[in-house]
Amino acid sequence: MSDSATATAHKVTLIAGDGVGPEVASATKDILAAAGANIHWDEAVAGKQAFEGGIASGVPQDTIDSIDANRVALKGPLETPVGFGGKSANVTLRKLFEMYGNIRPCKELPNIGGPFAGRGIDLIVVRENVEDVYAGIEHMQSPGVAQCLKLISRKGCEKISRLSFELARSLGRKRVTCATKANIMKKTEGLLKSTFEDVAKEFSEFTSDHIIIDNACHQLVIRPETFDIIVSTNMNGDIVSDLTSGLVGGLGLAPSMNLGDQAVMFEAVHGSAPDIAGQDKVNPTALLLSSVMMLRHFGEFETADKIEHALYVTLEEGKALTGDIARGRPAVGTKRFAEEIIANLGKRSDKLVDRDYTPINMPKVSSDLDFVKVNDRRDVGADVFIESGKMPDEVGKSLEQIVEGSKLKLKMISNRGTQVYPVAAAAFDGVDHHRCRFVMNDKSQAMTEADLLDLLQRVGQSWRWIHVERLPEYNGEPGYTKAQGED
Ligand code: NAP
Repeated sequence: MSDSATATAHKVTLIAGDGVGPEVASATKDILAAAGANIHWDEAVAGKQAFEGGIASGVPQDTIDSIDANRVALKGPLETPVGFGGKSANVTLRKLFEMYGNIRPCKELPNIGGPFAGRGIDLIVVRENVEDVYAGIEHMQSPGVAQCLKLISRKGCEKISRLSFELARSLGRKRVTCATKANIMKKTEGLLKSTFEDVAKEFSEFTSDHIIIDNACHQLVIRPETFDIIVSTNMNGDIVSDLTSGLVGGLGLAPSMNLGDQAVMFEAVHGSAPDIAGQDKVNPTALLLSSVMMLRHFGEFETADKIEHALYVTLEEGKALTGDIARGRPAVGTKRFAEEIIANLGKRSDKLVDRDYTPINMPKVSSDLDFVKVNDRRDVGADVFIESGKMPDEVGKSLEQIVEGSKLKLKMISNRGTQVYPVAAAAFDGVDHHRCRFVMNDKSQAMTEADLLDLLQRVGQSWRWIHVERLPEYNGEPGYTKAQGED
């Protein structure tokens, strides 16, 4: 590269990754170079090598510094060790740079076959990338009952909803669908639904709608071509986006982008595929298409189009395909497939409908910790979770006695989410984990700190309490849900 080319080059942190990572990274680099992409690769390490070097996060400081400086990374798959190390290096990277939007396009490619071929699938899953159960806050509340906290914030929902509409705008898309489980998880999943609906009012040029996530999966298999952009919480998005990858030929073809204000990381959806690593068998398309997204992020639309067309021509010709997509035809290796794409640079495919791309306008959302401000708030009681192998009747009667003379009374006990005391709402097959709901005797009074401490002290003298939740009201609206069967 000449000095002037180096000076204008886009600097990208390249993490080749584990297993098949170096092979797909090398093929991608070769194709980008041949297409004339002006990139300066800053090679860095993460994953297995880092874990083996004793770095528990899987991401060395040099790699963090490189992404910090370049703000753009292209990453191969990273192995998540089983039995040593701790967190996934992928999750570490996404969280370190608050890359809150995981964008996974799912588009039919030519000549791939499969049950959905010819349907014209061209959709994008936008997955919230840092919240939800992936915070990994888990506790064994009793020897036999585990809890995982599903944390969803209004701020996180607003960021991902706005990002979805901005993405729609930048890609000329028409419809944004919010997919949640708000019918069951009214507070957490419901927060994405209500936030999305609020945000949608500011983006009235788009069709926006909501769908229950399980129905979304059903519809995605029945009529996938009707979807455009789907936004969802972290875990639902994780599952749905693997499903959509399967619709168009599998993981070897699925690109993605992790987007945040501080950094953007492009990566293949697939993992390190250790069974085929080092054998020149892996399909590099997923990382190549991720790098095409990266070029568009840089505004290098012409080079991106050139590579995408060459890939389409290569797939259409079908002369040199890797084993995963060869469908009975003689397969070629990763290197040969990449050479074929390089040979096709400059050719155009009429199967590829060119879209208008404009750089995405990252949403501006307040960074206030107290993102949602309320004028009026009060606690009306508390849920105290108790570990006990006693039957609900015994626990209930004891608790009623214990709180006699205090400001609070026992309203009900639920076990695994269903009311079991004073009246059982269903057949009982319980566990040693009772959620005991206490409310103020005098409903007009708010529960004070002293009331709560008195309650815990009283309960704690006879029972092992394991967890406490206040029952808040914000502007008169309950900030908690009722148990199954609770009035
Ligand atoms: P995987 O690596 O995605 O591989 C599953 C299978 O899919 C492979 O054995 C291979 O199957 C096929 N495959 C995947 N990518 C392919 C490609 N580009 N070309 C051709 N075939 C491809 O999933 P995994 O085996 O569950 O995970 C392996 C490791 O990767 C784990 O440590 C996991 O934690 C990690 N992982 C990392 C990421 C990431 O870095 N973002 C994502 C997922 C998993 P056949 O050859 O048998 O057909």
